[in-house]
This record gives sequence, structure tokens and C-alpha cells, in this order.
Amino acid sequence: MTTTSPGETDDLASLPNLEEGSLLEELRTRYAKNKIYTYVGDILVAINPYQDLELYTKSISDQYKGKRRADNPPHLFAIADSSYQSLQTGNTISGKRNQCIVISGESGAGKTESTKLIIKQLIELCKGRSQLEQQILQVNPLLEAFGNAQTVMNDNSSRFGKYIQLKFHDAKVKGAKISEYLLEKSRVIFQNPKEENFHIFYYMFAGLEEEKRKELCLELPEKYRYLGNGPCRLKTDPRSMKESCEELINALNLVGFLEEEQDDMFRILAGVLTMGQIEIDTNENDEAFVRDKEILENVANILELDSTQLEKMLTFAVSRASGEFFTRNYSKEQAHNVRDALAKALYGRLFSWIVNKVNQLLAPEEDLPQKEITEIGILDIFGFENLGMNSFEQVCINLANEQLQHFFNQHIFTLEQMEYQDEGVDWTRVPFVNNQPLLDLFLAKPISVLALLDEESLFPKGSDHSYVEKMNHNFAKNHHYIKTKVSTSNKFSIDHYAGRVEYDATGFLEKNRDALPLGATQLFKTSTVDLINLIFTGTITRTGTLALQNRISKKKRSRKSLKKKGNTNQKKLTVGAQFKNSLSVLIELLNLANPHFVRCIKPNMTKEAKSFDDKFVKAQLRYTGMLETTRIRKMGYAFRPKFGDFVQRYGVLTFNPRLSANQFGCKVILEKAGLTDWMVGKTKVFLKYYHQDKLEDAMKLL
Ligand code: ATP
Ligand code: MG
Repeated sequence: MTTTSPGETDDLASLPNLEEGSLLEELRTRYAKNKIYTYVGDILVAINPYQDLELYTKSISDQYKGKRRADNPPHLFAIADSSYQSLQTGNTISGKRNQCIVISGESGAGKTESTKLIIKQLIELCKGRSQLEQQILQVNPLLEAFGNAQTVMNDNSSRFGKYIQLKFHDAKVKGAKISEYLLEKSRVIFQNPKEENFHIFYYMFAGLEEEKRKELCLELPEKYRYLGNGPCRLKTDPRSMKESCEELINALNLVGFLEEEQDDMFRILAGVLTMGQIEIDTNENDEAFVRDKEILENVANILELDSTQLEKMLTFAVSRASGEFFTRNYSKEQAHNVRDALAKALYGRLFSWIVNKVNQLLAPEEDLPQKEITEIGILDIFGFENLGMNSFEQVCINLANEQLQHFFNQHIFTLEQMEYQDEGVDWTRVPFVNNQPLLDLFLAKPISVLALLDEESLFPKGSDHSYVEKMNHNFAKNHHYIKTKVSTSNKFSIDHYAGRVEYDATGFLEKNRDALPLGATQLFKTSTVDLINLIFTGTITRTGTLALQNRISKKKRSRKSLKKKGNTNQKKLTVGAQFKNSLSVLIELLNLANPHFVRCIKPNMTKEAKSFDDKFVKAQLRYTGMLETTRIRKMGYAFRPKFGDFVQRYGVLTFNPRLSANQFGCKVILEKAGLTDWMVGKTKVFLKYYHQDKLEDAMKLL
């Protein structure tokens, strides 16, 4: 093997000595030369530059079109290109035609930016200039306005996960479908210090005409409780906020949201903010009442509700027993919780409606032959988080990242090494850290972090503390679970694949139940704002949206099937249970496609350009198993076609039309092509990832 100078190795798997130190040094040197992309075999490592390096210009985009990987330096565009080529040829290692691009990395590592660049390049590759393509490009800014926020880790942090499936027919994009995962609704009502609410709330103040703001009873942004930490960027950067608002409205128009729909959206947003201004007091009999009636009237006006009904909703608990309704007064705290629950419900449902609407607007036309539609899916979730204070949201976010790491391990280590064994290939096992025990800790039935939480959430006397006590008891012997020394505390820690995180279980039960106060749906149904009506009932006259109705009837169906299985719990699924289900659906989807991996790395904790923190990067390389990945890519056989498939594709290289589709035939081809370092198993040929390029080269020369 030839030695190249530091920072010139495009593929870490071709480094002469594989050690953590040498990988780090190579990546650091490359980063200093603005080479932010590096391969590990077929996997792309991307280090966030935190600056515009002009890596995505038109000419660079062209340079990567329809090329082999070895023709160009490592780049996201090469991943886009290879997934697009594989989609058309179906010539993939996994034998699967549909493709998925799985992008991972911690918060701020660059997943969302990478997603956008890949989608942009895929659209370039289609070469079309269709309206649909322009619409697809607008989806990301649109969703980011409502689903992203400034956090301590990232100024544009995704507070929801998404899987975007681009649908193709005849190599042209024909539609798109987005699946969303668990929007962090709690952000609507509360943000940690130095963090913000969702971008859209700030855009609204910066971008809406004064007249419009008046109509929506909007006052100065610093007044609003739900914008707790103040209108930070509205003060420091009002111009860019205004531009972002204009961009958003442009995106809404382009994607196809009607003007009336947009009006209703802003109405809901203003309603949410104003709802947060409602203050509850109690009288001498400890009965809750709304302190400032004018604010109550404002909320009622904005959301087009009856103010008396709204006040009742906020101050009286209605319960139902044996067919009769009972009412009792809320305490001040309970009433405030109801207010916040209403605000979260409005925002959460608005977000789901937006995603649904986008899916309707971008759905492939129905007359296309469904069987011929292929797809490239791009996964961009929320990155691993370890904050000063970690709550239920971080449990879900970090669980999703565990799940993805497991998916990666399955593909890179488990399945590949199982095949060597099954096929009798001589192989020294590459050890790796399997995080299955962590997935079990979170998901196993009947005892796991989520299962115990559900149990406690359904138990009327359950509390956050009794939940922690149950975990302390059940996981006493689990090495990944660390109970706190203070017995009264709600804290517990988990040793994740990416490090130890301390969680505070205060509020877990309520967040998991996510119950709407009884009667809230009925109240919102009385609103004369079409969109509010729709998101709470699933019927609307103006736009004829059916998606929500479908969803509801699906839910009803699944409830029926639960009943059939003898499950007596007919309550709505808990947030944890829903999340668990959606993760398993996602993994099923990913398993149906041929995977491409992009590993995003965060160079420092200060969001700075030109700064590479050795210790911080090393930790990421370690927990993602980068050294082991490089080893298996160096020693292993990433391309493993079956004898028949191999002879069918490359048999022509031997000029022998009667070449037999067996071990012997394959060997003839490999020798003829002058390849070395391959293996032959019982049913498959085992080739290095670079052999495929060489074979394709030889084919071109025919
Ligand atoms: P989260 O998990 O919080 O959503 P993320 O991995 O999606 O994080 P991004 O939002 O993609 O992180 O990136 C964070 C910031 O880093 C971006 O807003 C941008 O400023 C910068 N950045 C990321 N990738 C690039 C790139 N390729 N070129 C220039 N800047 C980038
Ligand atoms: Mg993101």
C-alpha cells in the first residue's frame, strides 16, 4: 500500500495503520484543509465546517453527476448520486432497489443541512424543472419554521424527527411523503435558559404587516410568557427574522397552502401566544377564576370561541362517572396546566396538519403505476442530547439515536459477519459494542423505561417519584442504569452508547399521558375558524381534507383490533407507546431499502468555524464505533453478490456465453478482471467495496 501525506487520504479504510489516533489526525488535518468529507469505505463522514466553503456550487454539483465514487473527492453529492444510480440499476449490495440515506450525529453536527443538500442534488439529477420539484425544495424551510428552534446546542435545532421519501418514476421525481416523529410540544410553553420557542413565533412579529398583527391582537413580543427568554433575535437580528418570514410565506404559497389556510395558521399561533397570557387566581373559597377578562376575551376573539365556555374550560374540571357529569373547581396550578395543555394541543395539531397537508399536496398522481414507483428516503432526526436538565423529550430523542446506532451496527457488523460464517468464509471477527442491552432497557416488555412509565401513567396513584422508585428497584442490577444516591430525588442516569445522561423524571407521567382536558375537543369544535375545527374533528368544508379523517378512522380500527386482542385499555396510546410504534415502523421502512450512511461529526461545542476540539471529536469517533467500522471496511467484503447475479452481470467479461452460474464461473470472471483479495463462499462472491468500481470499469472497456 502506498503511503500518502497527512490529510490526503480520501478513505480512512486505506490508511496503513488503523488506530484511533491516526483516524483523528487524518480527520483533523483534512478539516484544516477544508476537506470536511472523508469516506470510510462506502460510509461518508462529514464534519460541520460552520462556514460557507463554497462546496455546493453549480459547477461542483455538475462535477458529481453520474460519476463513479473514485472519480471525485468525497462529498455528499456522491452519496446522492450513488443512491440515484442504484435506484435505477437496482444493482445494490442488499439486492434492494429502494434506497435510504441515514444521517446521524449529535445535535448541531449538520444532519439537517446535509439532508437539504442531498435533496437539492437529487432534484438536480432529475434535471427536470417541474413545479413539483420546486415545491419539494420548499418543504424543508417550511417545516423548519414550525419544527426547529434555537437551543444551546444548535441555532437551528430540529425539534422533531423526519423521514422524507422521494418517489420516482422513470428516473423523475413524482412526489414526496414526510413522516414526522415526536414534535417537542413542551417548547411551546417553556424553554430552558438561553433557548427559544419555535422560529415561527418570532417570524410572526418580524414579518406580519402591522394591520395583520392588530387584527390578531398581537402586542410587543417581550410581553409574552411563552416567549419566556425574551424576543432575543428579534432585537439582535430583526432583518433576518423578517426575511425568514417572507421566505416562509413564499414557501407556503409555492407548496400550495391557500391564503385562507395561512390566515387560520397565524390565527392559531396568535391564539396560542395570547392563551399563555391568561392568569388564574382563586377567591376566598379557593375557586379558580380568570383574573384579566380582557385577555380572556382576546383569546376567545382570536380563536373564535365563546369566552364563557373558554373560562369554564380553564377553571372547572368536568369528570364523568356512570354516565353523569360532575364539575369541580380547579386549583390555580391545575388551571394553569389546563391553559398550557390547550396551547400545546393547538400547536401540536397544527404541526401535524401541516405535515399532512404537505403530503397531500406532494403525493404522486394516482394514475401512475404504483408498482413502478421507487423511492429514496432520507432520515433526519433530532441528534443525541445531553443538556443541563434532561426530561422526557430527551429520553425519546436519545432512544431514537440508540435505535439508529443499532440499525447501523446491524448493517455494518452483525449481518455482514453472520454471512461470513454462514458462507464459510475465513474471517476473524471484528468486535464492536452492541447496544442491544440499551434498547432492551428502554423497550422490553413488561419491564423497561417506557413500559414502567406506561404502567405508572395508567395507575391513578402513580407519581413521577413512584415511577423512579420502580425503576430503581427493577434495574438495580442493570449496568446501564444508575440510580441517584438521594432517595427523595426524581433523578436517574443512563449510560447511553454516546455517554452518560442524567434525567429528571419530574413531569414524565403528565408528558407521557398528554391528556387533553375533558371537553376541550368539544370546545374547539365550536370554533368558527375552519382550521381549528378541522384539527379537532377531522372535517372541513373548504379544503376537503381527507387525510385527517383517514387517520382517525385508522386509529379507530387499531383500537378495535386492540380490543380483539383482549386489551381492555381503550384509552388513547401514551406518547411513549406511540413513539415506540413509530420507531418500529421506521426501522421496518429502513430495512426494506438499500442503506447509505452519513455520519455527521460536530467539531466543537462553541458553534465556531476553524476550531477542531480533539477530545470532543475523539469521543464521537469512539461512541459511533468509527475505528471498528474502518477495520471492517478495510478487511471485510462490502459487495456480496450471489453467484447467479454476478455471472449474469459480469459474465460478458469472459466472452464465454456458456459460463456456468456457480463458484467456478465466478472465479473465472474474477481472474479475468485481474482482481485480488476476494473470497468465494457457498452461494456468494465476497468482494471489497472498490472491486465493484473496477468491474464496472472493465465493462465500460468492452
Ligand atoms: P439537530 O440535531 O439539533 O437538529 P443537526 O445535526 O440537524 O442538529 P444542523 O442544523 O444541520 O444540525 O447544523 C447546525 C448548523 O451548522 C447549521 O445551522 C449551519 O450553521 C452549520 N452547518 C451544518 N452543516 C453545514 C455545512 N455543510 N456547511 C456550512 N455550515 C453548516
Ligand atoms: Mg436538525
